Amino acid sequence: MRIVLLGPPGAGKGTHAVMLSKELGLAHISTGNLLRQNVSQGTELGRQAREYMQQGLLVPDELVTRMLAERFRQPDIKAGFILDGYPRTLNQAETLDRILGQLHLPVELALNLTASEAVIIQRLCGRLVCRKCGANFHRTNMPPRQAGICDSCGGELYQREDDREETIRKRLHVYGQEAASLLTFYREQHKLADVSADRSAQEVLAGILGIVRQKNA
Ligand code: AMP
Repeated sequence: MRIVLLGPPGAGKGTHAVMLSKELGLAHISTGNLLRQNVSQGTELGRQAREYMQQGLLVPDELVTRMLAERFRQPDIKAGFILDGYPRTLNQAETLDRILGQLHLPVELALNLTASEAVIIQRLCGRLVCRKCGANFHRTNMPPRQAGICDSCGGELYQREDDREETIRKRLHVYGQEAASLLTFYREQHKLADVSADRSAQEVLAGILGIVRQKNA
């Protein structure tokens, strides 16, 4: 199954992408994680992207698209993938269709995670991310077994620079500007499914798996 995960920052795309990739054996591709890796490794791409990310702005398309096209060259995507954080604009959705069209691996399902602003702010202000594997935790909603340590790989947990209330509001604004046309793009292709993410992670996962099963039936 080839899935794109849509929805505002804090809707739970990262958490559910990890859960779904394990459950369904899909490659998890997060453009945010790939960009953060580039920033922490000090690559040229990371150097160019950093300022935008700190301000909660979108990194220019040509940088993200080049990085993504490179990721799609890896053979693991043939078994299916879940794309988290891309596309974020109509232009990116069209670019993605072009790249995947050339690979004969079109998107099959666009899952739109919806969440209220209050839930989003609470989630992101308490979010903790693993420096090593990118897994997400939350100080109160989903605490790690051992404080500051990732349950999955033992890596160090940290708070993202852009998970501050002011930057979160900026990111939500940026998302809102593009969301309608992005959702219309996938609705018109009959690929869009909405999932309310104002629930526990397990309930949301169950909802998503129901949609995937229906799609495969
Ligand atoms: P995320 O981890 O998905 O919340 O992404 C963190 C930040 O990385 C965003 O606020 C953007 O600055 C940048 N970013 C991630 N994905 C994209 C994308 N598809 N297009 C542009 N910028 C992106």
